[in-house]
Amino acid sequence: MGFLDQRFENSNIVVTSLENLLNWARLSSLFQMQFGLACCAIEMMAASASHFDIMRFGVIPRATPRQTDVMIVAGTVTLKMASRIKRLYDQMPEPRYVISMGSCSNCGGPYWEHGYHVLKGVDRVIPVDVYVPGCPPRPEALLEGIMKLQEKVRKETLVKKKA
Ligand code: SF4
Repeated sequence: MGFLDQRFENSNIVVTSLENLLNWARLSSLFQMQFGLACCAIEMMAASASHFDIMRFGVIPRATPRQTDVMIVAGTVTLKMASRIKRLYDQMPEPRYVISMGSCSNCGGPYWEHGYHVLKGVDRVIPVDVYVPGCPPRPEALLEGIMKLQEKVRKETLVKKKA
């Protein structure tokens, strides 16, 4: 029997590590950069509306990259837009995350072969944490992507360990 067993039966006490607490707070409040690129962005907006209610996961839209944790690249990334996306990403504070939503952002989508103006995957300019497949993905798929990102954040360590 452990030292702490049966000592807190009538108390609302949770014992955890500081790292777990911080990660729980971070994954529960992933502020999202408020922008969209093409048709996939319509599904992203649907995910934010009342039926799917992405805010119940703590995903709150912010209008400036300096207050955001996650960029959801939803839509066709044209070559003209790619440098803007990179600039916005560079303005986000660390730790920062990217969800690539839809085939266009993942690999060029319908434009992968003849779209001379389309970047063949946003991961050519910024690192991507989660890829959501589909053309377009349904809002449920984006919610699944959010949960995958939350799993990743849960396992992260913010403390530098000695070698
Ligand atoms: S993946 Fe399909 S739905 Fe999404 S932006 Fe590209 S063409 Fe539109």
